Amino acid sequence: MSRYIRERYKGFQSYTPGEQPKEMEYIKLNTNESPFPPAPGVCRRLKEADMERLRLYPDPTGRRLKAMLADRFRVEPENVFLANGSDDILNFAMMAFNDDEDTLLFPDISYSFYEVIANLHGVNFRKVPLQEDMTIDYRDYCRDDCNVIIPNPNAPTGIALSLEVIEEIVKANPNHVVLIDEAYVDFGAESAVPLTKKYDNILISQTFSKSRSFAGGRLGFAIGNQELIRDLITLQYSTNPYSVNTLSLILGSAAMEEEAYYRKNAEIIQENRKYTAETLTSMGFEVLPSKANFVFARRPGMDGDKLYRKLKEKGVLVRHFTTERIQDYVRITIGTKEQMDVLFEKLREILQEE
Ligand SMILES: *Cc1c(COP(=O)(O)O)cnc(C)c1O
Repeated sequence: MSRYIRERYKGFQSYTPGEQPKEMEYIKLNTNESPFPPAPGVCRRLKEADMERLRLYPDPTGRRLKAMLADRFRVEPENVFLANGSDDILNFAMMAFNDDEDTLLFPDISYSFYEVIANLHGVNFRKVPLQEDMTIDYRDYCRDDCNVIIPNPNAPTGIALSLEVIEEIVKANPNHVVLIDEAYVDFGAESAVPLTKKYDNILISQTFSKSRSFAGGRLGFAIGNQELIRDLITLQYSTNPYSVNTLSLILGSAAMEEEAYYRKNAEIIQENRKYTAETLTSMGFEVLPSKANFVFARRPGMDGDKLYRKLKEKGVLVRHFTTERIQDYVRITIGTKEQMDVLFEKLREILQEE
């Protein structure tokens, strides 16, 4: 760090993104991207896009895409917020809703970005331990003295909460904002978007990155009560009013016309997830019950870091976390069946070498 950096950022720990290797020879099961390309209609729209338009700033309101999302989720455009990936939503929500004296709650085993972004904005937070079986006890969040962020399904466990339980949490916190991060909701969990019509304190964030094969396009959206959405817009317009670029707006709209394609892909991922969980279990792994496009697994007696490194040597990238409670685990993104078969083949080799 330079000697000019502000005192408060000295020694600041930023988020560590998963590896994005240059060589494509890896089977990449480490950052929960989709193994499928964007829909044909999206690719066509890119080819036909009028590059002349890049001369102009994008529509800061993202009117067309917002209208399509509103339609799809049966809300009004005023209930929709567009952002440069859903990480951006987390950033604005962190800034918007946490006063100096407030505390934010999120699970101890969860998306590690929450902690980074809370620290960035000097937000007090408390990590609520998951239960022994890695599930969330919703009662820990029913106190109405803290704001709440919960990913549903949770990452990296993949375990989902039911809509009823989410509603209990929202109901129990009438004076606090409950943000449900639904980055993985399209792979089998229930969305809490309908609750946004009934409660003014729930904010949902979703992304085009995972189920819509668009991680490189950086497009996320939030749904909630108009006033919450307006708060997010205020902060976004004070940070970067053109957060979402023209091409992502165009291609995001094209993606909204291809729901059937993405739904089919999400179904394939769910089938492959079942196949993966069964195969790993038959090989002696413990696999948490996932509703996401990844599984979190460990093999008793085998070190998670070692497993990660051996798989990498053999050309398969998975994600390992050094956090104490989950050191034994690896998180494996669900890819195509062919990719998963290569993973199993390499795992069998590793087990034989033991
Ligand atoms: C991937 C992920 C995100 C971020 O998605 P982007 O829209 O690509 O920024 C948010 N939350 C969780 C839990 C994720 O895993």
